[in-house]
Amino acid sequence: MKVDTLIVGFGIAGLNYAEQLRSHNKSFVVLAPDKESASHLAGGIVNPVVLKRFNPVWKAEEFLDYAFPFYSNLEEQVKTRVIHPLPIYRILNDIQEQNDWSVAASGTSLEKYLNKEFISEDKFTEVRAPFSFAEVIQSARVDVKILLTHYIKKVIPHQFIPEKLDHEALIQGEFIEYKDIKANQIVFCEGYQGFKNPYFNYLPLIGSKGEILIIKCDKLTQDVIFKGPIFLSPMGDKTFWVGATFNRKDKTTWVSEEAKAWLISKLKQFLNLPFEILDHKAQIRATVIDRRPLLGRHPKHHNLYLLNGLGTRGVLMSPLLSKWLFQYIENNEKIPRQADIKRFEKHYFRN
Ligand SMILES: Cc1cc2nc3c(=O)[nH]c(=O)nc-3n(C[C@H](O)[C@H](O)[C@H](O)COP(=O)(O)OP(=O)(O)OC[C@H]3O[C@@H](n4cnc5c(N)ncnc54)[C@H](O)[C@@H]3O)c2cc1C
Repeated sequence: MKVDTLIVGFGIAGLNYAEQLRSHNKSFVVLAPDKESASHLAGGIVNPVVLKRFNPVWKAEEFLDYAFPFYSNLEEQVKTRVIHPLPIYRILNDIQEQNDWSVAASGTSLEKYLNKEFISEDKFTEVRAPFSFAEVIQSARVDVKILLTHYIKKVIPHQFIPEKLDHEALIQGEFIEYKDIKANQIVFCEGYQGFKNPYFNYLPLIGSKGEILIIKCDKLTQDVIFKGPIFLSPMGDKTFWVGATFNRKDKTTWVSEEAKAWLISKLKQFLNLPFEILDHKAQIRATVIDRRPLLGRHPKHHNLYLLNGLGTRGVLMSPLLSKWLFQYIENNEKIPRQADIKRFEKHYFRN
């Protein structure tokens, strides 16, 4: 089978890159094991604001302006609703945070994302917020798991190969050859497992484990994402996503009783209602030492490319990142310096 591109990995990065290729009429196949990834587990929260410090996310406006229409278009492809615009209600902790919020909401970089008016806790008595809620607008939740499942079924049923790539069996030359596949290039979208990729293992992909709970709570509103010490985000059918922990030391996907207890205690700090725990899961985020994505071409091999390092904001960033990579490969357009893997080239030549 001869194709233009072989995509390795099918989380949100692989999907968004596949969509770039599909929409530009390029031939491709995707190779990825049929198992859960960080993308399946993610809260899918699209949020342009760093809610700890009330700063905009890096290039927030560009990412957001590209992501919303991109996901709406994907909804048409998969014929299923996947993007749910929802406000985020940040629970303010004290007067200092109220002041900081007011300053941020009046600044040019955030005024379109932050509501200046505080919202009284009387609006939702089921959630404790004695210093009020502060509202993020232009936020959303993307149902990534549904998107991934339906995209395979409805858009690329004959281009998806449910198996893991064995890097040792890859032949890299003028073309890429793998079993019966011959491709002009390969784009690796392997998430945290990319640290095992022998071509790109010089990059500082560090990884951060996250555990989450899925709960059922009959009387809680489905119209808001709450952000206290952790997120509480509606998933429909009276179920909610609760997360997440951050752990840089443990790189397994086993769940721990300690993390579960921590999540429950944080949730109980602000939720006044009883809830039932339906599920508890863990995955590893592909985080990078300088907190920027990893995009670009291998320093030596002209047809090996990478789309990785999406960290904690993959759902917001990956649509535009996939466009940047596509335009780089096809039209030699520059990747923004902060995201280009060239910034780590000396690590490669040092090894
Ligand atoms: C608990 C948790 C909560 C999160 N919440 C959010 C959130 O609310 N909003 C947000 O934007 N982000 C969130 N994130 C981060 C988000 O999950 C990531 O940024 C994003 O999903 C990374 O996508 P990816 O496609 O790069 O990697 P992954 O989703 O990890 O996918 C990698 C893919 O590559 C495959 N693969 C790996 N090795 C091989 C191989 N050798 N051969 C073939 N396939 C291979 C894997 O099987 C998988 O299919 C969260 C992450 C976690 C863990």
